[in-house]
Amino acid sequence: MNVKTLVIGLDGATFSVLDPLIEQGVMPFLKSFMAEGVCAGLRTIIPPLTPPAWTSLMTGRTPGQHGVFDFFHMESDGSRHIRFFNSNDVQCDTIWSLASGQGLRVTTINFPAMFPAPRISGHVIPGWVPWKQLRLACWPEGLFDRLKALPGFNQRELAMDIKLEEKATEGCSSYDEYGPWVDLHTRREQNLFDILNHLVREEPSELTAILFDGVDKLQHLCWRFLRPQDDRPLETEQELRLREVCIDYFRKLDGLLEKICALAGPEATVVMASDHGFGPTYEVFHINTWLEQHGYLAWSEAARSHDTQGALLGVGQVARHTWMLDWNRTKAFATTPTSNGIYILVNRDGNSPGVQPSEYLSFRQQLIDDLRAFRDPASGEAIVTGIWTREEAFSGPHSEAAPDLTLMLRDGGLVGILPAAGPLSRRPVMGGAHRPVGIFAAKGPELRRGLMADELSILDVAPTVLYSLGLAVPMEMQGRVPEEIYQEAVLKARPVRRVLTREVAVNGHGSGPGKLSEEDEQVVMERLRELGYVE
Ligand SMILES: [Zn+2]
Repeated sequence: MNVKTLVIGLDGATFSVLDPLIEQGVMPFLKSFMAEGVCAGLRTIIPPLTPPAWTSLMTGRTPGQHGVFDFFHMESDGSRHIRFFNSNDVQCDTIWSLASGQGLRVTTINFPAMFPAPRISGHVIPGWVPWKQLRLACWPEGLFDRLKALPGFNQRELAMDIKLEEKATEGCSSYDEYGPWVDLHTRREQNLFDILNHLVREEPSELTAILFDGVDKLQHLCWRFLRPQDDRPLETEQELRLREVCIDYFRKLDGLLEKICALAGPEATVVMASDHGFGPTYEVFHINTWLEQHGYLAWSEAARSHDTQGALLGVGQVARHTWMLDWNRTKAFATTPTSNGIYILVNRDGNSPGVQPSEYLSFRQQLIDDLRAFRDPASGEAIVTGIWTREEAFSGPHSEAAPDLTLMLRDGGLVGILPAAGPLSRRPVMGGAHRPVGIFAAKGPELRRGLMADELSILDVAPTVLYSLGLAVPMEMQGRVPEEIYQEAVLKARPVRRVLTREVAVNGHGSGPGKLSEEDEQVVMERLRELGYVE
């Protein structure tokens, strides 16, 4: 058995960073890959956020259809309590379950929403897992112990260590910390590659996928070193050295991409994709402070007595919203600093605070008008440049769990949710933030060569992967197989087939998400609590 289709995820990869690196000769392999294959911009979903976007890539569906909206999930409908998202929140088939269900083997390394691991035929090494949980998280049983024997295997560096991860969102405290932090990601990606290398050689799968997320983290933290043209020229020797450290990360990544493609061989179709693009961010819109100033929200006594003025929020502090707000006087609020979403409290049972159901639409429209009217006092420019209602952004069976409004900000950044001195503040230094258009690049014997295609949708990746495996594409997938990237003779010989999911022959491998025992779940929750994710 050989690798038939190889998916390489590059979290947050964007042409505005890669193109200059390719020009400078830092990524010669990627350059030739793109020149010999197909590339295109890849438009992501709303919001352009890692967990829902990768889930859309894996399912070919939007969040309202698959059920993942954020890093966090309300514990139940109408609940104020949130928990970290997991694979059980994915409410539909994935390319992994569909391929496995039709008799193919699947290896997936470091993708989010894969924990608890789905019981597919092949291997699952889930991403976004606390490092102590990694043994428990890998599928099938015994896989972790086999991998542990690999030279250089480092459990702690391989999985999520939140103490280190938080730096990606909160900024390193001193220049000295950047270098080792970037090196950590280089080692981690080498570790991920070593696993792939072992599995492709010893226990290969027709569908093999690996996700490198260092790109996203590096760009969040080191945008000013990667793209100083977005802010100011680098001045000190230290800054210039850090730029070299960042460039070296991409150079090594290029080396890994080359090795992975060589492993898969010339007969494989290779698809590279990012979950969203990236760009600079200079400011923070303190959304809950703005809501408070406009009478939509009230802080609790506890929140007012804490000195959180102007704080940039890290993931560890997210669960605080439940005690920060005076729930009797709050009608609209943001729970997380990751999704740019606003929830409206509705008095559904007649005895609760919040907006009366009959007033919901007019209340929401007023809130939209007020947000649109909010301007930068210095320039008069609008701060909120895009607003989507739940119906507009999240139609589907799971829309009830989505925020009532989702915002796009003028510099593409994320909101802050803690109390601040004013609604708008400048970041101490320019950072990186997500953008709607990421990258797509693919190469293989069936694809056209040297084609710069029109922009594709992230929803098109799942149908493309299934087609390249010779499988039918479920009608329920909202994306399409982009026929323009394939050679005509291939399409003629093997036309794209669309079928209802229930017509897909599932051979009883069990394609749904696995379930943790109560005891295991306790262990995971304890770990997440310890990490500060959960109250
Ligand atoms: Zn991402």
